[in-house]
Amino acid sequence: MVDIDNYKAIKKELGEEITLVAVSKTKPIEDIQELYNLGHRDFGENYVQELVDKEGQLPKDIRWHFIGHLQRNKAKLIAPFVQLIHGVDSLTLLKEINKQGEKSGRVVNCLLQVHIAEEETKFGLDKDEVGLIRKEWEGSEMNNVQICGLMGMASFTDDRGKLRAEFQQLKKIFDTLRASGPGLQTLSMGMSSDYTVAVEEGSNMVRIGSLIFGERKRNE
Ligand SMILES: *Cc1c(COP(=O)(O)O)cnc(C)c1O
Repeated sequence: MVDIDNYKAIKKELGEEITLVAVSKTKPIEDIQELYNLGHRDFGENYVQELVDKEGQLPKDIRWHFIGHLQRNKAKLIAPFVQLIHGVDSLTLLKEINKQGEKSGRVVNCLLQVHIAEEETKFGLDKDEVGLIRKEWEGSEMNNVQICGLMGMASFTDDRGKLRAEFQQLKKIFDTLRASGPGLQTLSMGMSSDYTVAVEEGSNMVRIGSLIFGERKRNE
C-alpha cells in the first residue's frame, strides 16, 4: 500500500532542489506504477535481479537508482539503463562499470559510497580512498563512467546528535572534493528515519522507502 499522503507531504517538504528517490525494493510493480501515475520518476532498488525484472515491466522513462551493493559481475545487467549507481566503493568496480557503459554506448552516473556510520558492517570508503579514486578516474580514460557525487548511510540510531555529526562529516568530504574540481553535484544522504537531519546538513538527494511504501518484511 502506497501512502500517498506521506508521499505528498515529503515532496512538499523537500521542494524542487532535493531529489526524492522512492525506494521500492521488495514492493510490487503496482505500487511503483501508482506513484508513477502521480508523476514520480525516480525509484531506487537494492537487488540487481529485482531491478532488471521491474525495469522490463514498467515505463521506460523511469529513472532507476541502484542503491544496493553492486557485485562486479552484475554491473553488465544494469549498465544499459540505470540512471545512477549510488554505492560504488572500489576502483575495480568503477572500471567494470566503465567497461559495461562503453558496451552499451552510455555514460553511467555513479556516486562513491563513503563510510560514515560507526557500525563495521556498512560498506564504504574513507575520505582518503574517495580522493584517490577520484584522482585515478580523472587521470584515466574512463569516459563511460561519471563520478557525480557521494552517498552515505548513517548509523542505525535514534541519537540525532550522532546522526547529525555523521552527516556533517560526509558533507565536509563532499565540499572538500567539490572545491578540488568540477562535476560533483549530488550528495545522497538520508532515509525514512533520518532524512530530516540529512537535509538540514546539506543533502540534495534522499532515499525513502518505508515512509512511502510501508514497512518491508525483509529489512535491508
Ligand atoms: C532500503 C534502503 C533505503 C530506504 O530505507 P527506508 O528506511 O525504508 O527509507 C535507503 N537507502 C539504502 C541504501 C537502502 O538500502
